[in-house]
Amino acid sequence: MSLINKKGLPISNGIAIAHIHHLSNVETIILDKEGKGVEYEETRLKEAIEQAKNELQTLIRQSKDRLGEDQAMIFTAQAMTLDDPTLQKSIWHKIRDKGFNAPFAFRLAMSEMMDLLSVTDNLYIRERINDLKDISSRVIRILTNDTEKKMEFIDDVILVTDELTPSETMNLDTKHIKGIITAIGSNTSHSAILANHLGIPAVSGVDIKTLPDHELAIIDGKTGDIFVDPDIKTLTEYKRKQSELLSLKLQFQNYRFNDAYTKDHHRVKVYANIGEPNDLEHAKNSGAEGIGLLRTENQYMQTNTFPKEDELFKFYHHIALGFKDADVVIRTLDIGGDKNLSYLNNRNELNPFLGNRAIRYSLQYPTLFKTQLKAILRANTNHNVQIMFPMIATIEEFRKAKELVLEAQQELESKGIHTNLPKIGIMVEIPSAALFIEEFAKVVDFVSIGTNDLIQYLFAADRTNDHVAYLYQPYHPIVLKTIKNMIDCCHKHGIIVSVCGEMASRIESALILVGFGIDELSMNANSIAEIKYKLSLVNFSDLQELTNNLLDQTSNDEVYKVIHQFAKKLL
Ligand code: PEP
Ligand code: MG
Repeated sequence: MSLINKKGLPISNGIAIAHIHHLSNVETIILDKEGKGVEYEETRLKEAIEQAKNELQTLIRQSKDRLGEDQAMIFTAQAMTLDDPTLQKSIWHKIRDKGFNAPFAFRLAMSEMMDLLSVTDNLYIRERINDLKDISSRVIRILTNDTEKKMEFIDDVILVTDELTPSETMNLDTKHIKGIITAIGSNTSHSAILANHLGIPAVSGVDIKTLPDHELAIIDGKTGDIFVDPDIKTLTEYKRKQSELLSLKLQFQNYRFNDAYTKDHHRVKVYANIGEPNDLEHAKNSGAEGIGLLRTENQYMQTNTFPKEDELFKFYHHIALGFKDADVVIRTLDIGGDKNLSYLNNRNELNPFLGNRAIRYSLQYPTLFKTQLKAILRANTNHNVQIMFPMIATIEEFRKAKELVLEAQQELESKGIHTNLPKIGIMVEIPSAALFIEEFAKVVDFVSIGTNDLIQYLFAADRTNDHVAYLYQPYHPIVLKTIKNMIDCCHKHGIIVSVCGEMASRIESALILVGFGIDELSMNANSIAEIKYKLSLVNFSDLQELTNNLLDQTSNDEVYKVIHQFAKKLL
């Protein structure tokens, strides 16, 4: 047997050894043009778009908890595309003026949008075509009543296909799909980013027709090398490389149940961010020492009406009992911004991220808010629950919200239900709260810094808008100074301060936060093992010295360079 050696584009790191499995291309559905009346076509398209948005919300939640905030953004951007006014105008024109039916009009409008993007020289923009294909096939599938296809395998395979959309990548059977080879795709595509986070080695830019189905193959996602039917020498060499990589991963994994300490024995608690009942086991198996952020929006988004107190209680109590000996921080409803409830007749806002969201909404509807608060209070049977209010801007908001907690407790008491009052804290995500931390620290029980929103508001740059993504600057000295000041103030007043935004889960930013003296880091469960392990290799005293010097830099990139060098040398 001859050895075929190919070189593709390295897309996602790692080595895979398995048999090739060609994924037959999904045939493009032939669509009729003819519409059955404007009203009928418009209605079914509107319904299909709503369903597509709901499906995307599920993917957003799943990817946020499984892979992290940045990865979830891929699907947030897709959902926003469905509301794009230019796209809408183009679709309605095709239905109203040309008499086309909904699927035909939608697909045509999407392909015109793709044609526009395909002529640009900007690789980043061209790569969004794959996202448009993803959106298009989702809506067409819904309109043609097709079911979402799941790929399931019995044996391990290297999946070979023309191209994978982000949704397909997110739904891959990670147990058996050991590697991916595609004809199309680059390392900045959204599918590549997801493959990377899912830990699946991938290579693209390959003439896939020359890859024989069912043949044994090796792919090296770091170099782009592909070996089909490898000789024994190559196979042995790659098995050795593979087991080296695996043992590094295992080293992280083996460490995951240890309490997190730096090398010189400085303690930092490492918690998980979760949002669904099913996340409990994953968080525990990943080594979470507690729950630093329980996002409660999902339960409200999965139904057509506000969930009942008992339904909420069941979820909160399940998590509180699951982490019996540890903190479980439950964040009250954080809707608005990019997270809307279909049944909420909130008026359209020009600036939803600056509008009626999170605690503002809860304060406006105290009865609804108290339903949630009662469920949280009842879940605190084990004295380990804490209540956290999102998007607090002023001390008055905090006071009012806390009063409602006390009212809710009294109402329960009057029904004979005794509850234990949890610690009550805030998320600091708004600059007014960050800058007024000295006063907040006197009245709250704890502070958790939501860096995702804090950065968005510090730079006045919508975190869901690709065009201003360059302003998401977690290493900018002003972000670091703001955080350091909050940590110092909270400690001066004897309260615990944590970070539950993405900065906690990246090793470089986590090292900075630890150097600043953060007490707790809360992150997606997948990052816990690596962060705990790497923290055990560094001295707190070295981090303190290093981070002090970082504050003198003048840009995000300068800081990143220094901390990246440090992390690379040390780890
Ligand atoms: C944050 O803003 O950093 C945060 C953790 O909250 P969310 O990402 O849910 O807005
Ligand atoms: Mg937030």
